Amino acid sequence: MKTRKVSIQDNISKGCRICKKGAKMVLFITGVCHRTCWYCPLSVERKGTDRTYANERVVDSPEQAIEVAHRMSALGTGVTGGEPLARPDRVISYCSRLKEEFGPEHHIHLYTSTAPDHEMLQSLVGIIDEIRLHPPMEIWDQVLTSDYVTSAVDAKKMGFDIGFEVPALPEVDVLTQVLPFIDFLNINELEWGDHNADGMRQRNYLLEDGLHNAIEGAREWAARISKEDKVHFCSSSFKDSVQLRKRLIRVARNTARSFDHVTRDGTIMYGSLVPQKNDRNWVQGLTPGSYEDMGDHVELSMRELRSNAQTLSGDSSIIERYPDRGIIVEVTPL
Ligand code: SF4
Repeated sequence: MKTRKVSIQDNISKGCRICKKGAKMVLFITGVCHRTCWYCPLSVERKGTDRTYANERVVDSPEQAIEVAHRMSALGTGVTGGEPLARPDRVISYCSRLKEEFGPEHHIHLYTSTAPDHEMLQSLVGIIDEIRLHPPMEIWDQVLTSDYVTSAVDAKKMGFDIGFEVPALPEVDVLTQVLPFIDFLNINELEWGDHNADGMRQRNYLLEDGLHNAIEGAREWAARISKEDKVHFCSSSFKDSVQLRKRLIRVARNTARSFDHVTRDGTIMYGSLVPQKNDRNWVQGLTPGSYEDMGDHVELSMRELRSNAQTLSGDSSIIERYPDRGIIVEVTPL
C-alpha cells in the first residue's frame, strides 16, 4: 500500500471545522445544474432531479429539514447540489428558517458553481456565512480575469467568508494565483462515482485502493499547492471515516431506543422477531419499553433475542442499519 504524503491541515474554514465534527447537516437543494463537468461526483439518483434532501432524507419544506437538523443536533448546514442557486428562492427560504430556528450562530456555507453578482450576494446576507465558489476547470488558468474573482472580492467586502472549492485535478496548481483574493481553497480528492465512471476510464484514471473511491494520483496533483497556508485538501477517506461516521453517531445518540445498540460506526443494531404461535405471549412478558411492536414484527434488544431464539417459533434476525430508520446494512438470521 502507498504511503499518504499530504496531511490534513488545521488552517481550515469555519464550515470545515464544524464538518470535521460531523455536526453539519448536508442540505442538497436540487440536483439541477447548468454545467456538465465530466468529473461530477453526483449519483445517478440525484443528478438532474429537482428534489431537496436533508442528509439522506427527501424533504418538501424547511420544517422537515429543521427536524433532520434537530435529530443530529446540527451546529451548522452545508448547502449544496447540483447548483443550489438554480433555485435561489429555495436556498433563501430554507436557510432563513434554519437561522430563525437555531440562531445566527448556526453556521451555513453555500457551494455554488456560479459567480453570484451583487444582487444575488445581497439576497444571501445574514443567512449564508461562507461561500465556496467552484469555477469551471476550463477557466482555471484565466481565473483572475473571470467573474469568479469579481464575485469573491465583492462577497468579501460584504462580510462573507469566501473560498473556492474544486476537485483535485492535474491542473489544480494553477489556482495558486487566486489565493490573495480568497480566504481559503478547498481541494476535494477526486472520486470515482457512478455518473463519472466513463470520464475516469477515458482518462485512464484508476482507483487508489479497493476501500475508497479515491483516484490514484489525486493527492500528488494537489500536494504542491496544498503546502500553501490557505489550502485544505479533503480526502475521500476523511469524508467517509470521520465526517460521515461522526454525523451518524450524533444522529444515533439522539434517536436510538433504549434497546438499540449503537456501534462505533454510528449504525444501530437490534433484534427482529416475526412472531409465530405463542411468541407474542413471550414478548408481552418482557419489560415495557424493552421492545417495540411494529405490527408484523417485533423489535427488541439483540441480546434478549439471541438468548431466546432457540425456543421461539418465529423467524429471528439481527438487523444493522443507519440510525433514524435509515437504510439496512446487514440482516443476520439467527
Ligand atoms: S458544477 Fe458541480 S454539480 Fe454541476 S456538474 Fe459540475 S460538479 Fe456537478
